[in-house]
Parts: sequence; structure tokens; C-alpha cells
Amino acid sequence: MGTFETDPECFISRKHRGDVPAPGGAIGQDDLVYAGHAQIRLGQTTAYLGHVKAEPKRHVSGLQFLSDDEARALGSTVARLSRPLVAVAAAEHVYIQALSARLRHWLRSDAQPEGSGR
Ligand SMILES: [Zn+2]
Repeated sequence: MGTFETDPECFISRKHRGDVPAPGGAIGQDDLVYAGHAQIRLGQTTAYLGHVKAEPKRHVSGLQFLSDDEARALGSTVARLSRPLVAVAAAEHVYIQALSARLRHWLRSDAQPEGSGR
């Protein structure tokens, strides 16, 4: 699964290419997964740095299209992103959600802490 598929109009694909700014830049990335902070929400001037995302580099429109390597890399990245939310941000729980319907670039695994005062 070495093919890098992309959509020139996809926001996430554009972010991975560096065509749109990413608050704080990439937390980490490799050939399969990009990890970064949430975007700055409309009407705000800063991003909440405790909201992090793991996204496959390849433009896929559903979970079922991830290769086994991509799925493993995504799961591992979500676990690694969660650890500092607990250790540093004192989160009691870390929740993930997968977004794809609106963005059409599955999967964004958003990890957000609970109980950190935010
Ligand atoms: Zn995309």
C-alpha cells in the first residue's frame, strides 16, 4: 500500500502537504500517519492544544479502506497522543472520535482530555 492517494481539494490532504497552516505544526508524522493539534475554530484566535488529531496520510473515505499497516499506525499514534494528555494535562479520561462524513478524509481520530479543567 505504498501509493499516496490525495484529493487536491481536501482540507486534510492540503494540510498534510503544508498548503494550509496547522497550529503548532505536526506533532509527528511518518509515511502513514499525521498527528497534530486541532485547527483554530471559527471566531477564535488560538487553538486548544489539548485537542489532538491523528489522520492517515493517504486520502481514504472510510475505515474499511485503511490497510492493516495504516490501521495499526493510526491506533498506535492515538495511544501515544493520549499519554501526555494524562501525564502532562492531568486528563482523567481521553476520548476519541472519528470524523469523516463531512471531511471525506477518513479518519481523524480526535483525542480530547476530560477533567483537565478545560
Ligand atoms: Zn484528504
